[in-house]
Amino acid sequence: DRVDNPYAGAKVYVNPEWSAKAKAEPGGSRIANQPTGVWLDRIAAINGVGDGMGLRDHLDAALAQKGSSEQVVQLVVYNLPGRDCAALASNGELGPTEIDKYKTDYINPIAAILAEPKYAGLRIVTTIEIDSLPNLITNVSGRPTATPNCDVMKANGNYQKGVAYALDKLGDIGNVYNYIDAGHHGWLGWDDNFGASAEMFKTTASGNGAKLSDVHGFIVNTANYSALKENNFAIGDSVAGKSVRESKWVDWNRYTDELSYAQAMRTKLVSLGFDQNLGMLIDTSRNGWGGAARPAGPGATTDVDTYVNGGRYDRRIHLGNWCNQSGAGLGERPQANPATGIDAYVWMKPPGESDGSSKAIDNDEGKGFDRMCDPTYTGNPRNNNNMSGALPDAPVSGHWFSAQFQELMKNAYPAL
Ligand code: BGC
Repeated sequence: DRVDNPYAGAKVYVNPEWSAKAKAEPGGSRIANQPTGVWLDRIAAINGVGDGMGLRDHLDAALAQKGSSEQVVQLVVYNLPGRDCAALASNGELGPTEIDKYKTDYINPIAAILAEPKYAGLRIVTTIEIDSLPNLITNVSGRPTATPNCDVMKANGNYQKGVAYALDKLGDIGNVYNYIDAGHHGWLGWDDNFGASAEMFKTTASGNGAKLSDVHGFIVNTANYSALKENNFAIGDSVAGKSVRESKWVDWNRYTDELSYAQAMRTKLVSLGFDQNLGMLIDTSRNGWGGAARPAGPGATTDVDTYVNGGRYDRRIHLGNWCNQSGAGLGERPQANPATGIDAYVWMKPPGESDGSSKAIDNDEGKGFDRMCDPTYTGNPRNNNNMSGALPDAPVSGHWFSAQFQELMKNAYPAL
């Protein structure tokens, strides 16, 4: 039987591979014992890439860490056909039509391993297919942000079919807790995205074999940089006769941060029929925004832009920037039950792993070069044609990026 919150009273698995990389960095031992997500980002990750750990190795290591406590293991299920349709940096190995391969060569073997009796005592958290369903709402024809690949994935239905299949198969295993990705406030917080995305989550989780009861909760801000809680301005504030919503930064969004967004999305999802006890996770791995540039208090009230820009912790050039953001810091340390409706703050994106390369780099992972990772790029409609804000000299997504790791530690909030 599943518990209401798998994180409550449990230890969370420390990935020895990530931990070793963190420990090898100057100052890294301060965080090397934090739990991070294990990304199953290609079929080969199930058995282990090269001499790396595979899924069974991680689960065995988790059992060893468990002792007599309860133990959570955090997995990221991330290999849909036509993956990352609105960007290039995390394009994957499966083409848009390869839904059958996704089922038989990816989800089925994962489900078979997770169902092995020796792992029945672990609480296995699975976060399902980052960025996929939101892209079908915001980045399709009819929107200025549309991409041809997202139109293809919407038309063929393979994101919904893949997510439903994963929910169904993994949801059959009694100690697996499925959390669907629900973007972040700087993506789905606008009125035309929020409700439509919630409806998309519901139809996806109630078709193609999936049931709403296969869903334990949702995760927000995965691998993103949106601040947890902006204390220096609130969505209801007005300055010099203008609402905060009219500021350039907020730009009519309903939310200013991830905590308010996650709680509101939870309420919306429950109203649509998801479980009353739905739990949210917030990825706080890189949304700390501490360091010298962190504002000490609200901005001046001369006009609404001065007020918001002077007070906001999130120092990005634009909320739509997502790649290796300059100035970011580690956020809240992973913890259970931090706020109403929130099962945990988690570090699902392992700090120090790149979001994408700053230049084209050959690789055998299907990863493309997205100019949002190039610090000289002047943007596209998805970041309202702003500079990318990315750090230079980054490796391909998922690869170790020492300079970013160092900056994340330097700008951690709470500080290390
Ligand atoms: C990459 C994955 C990687 C993950 C975690 C994603 O952006 O595409 O390959 O495992 O980040 O770092």
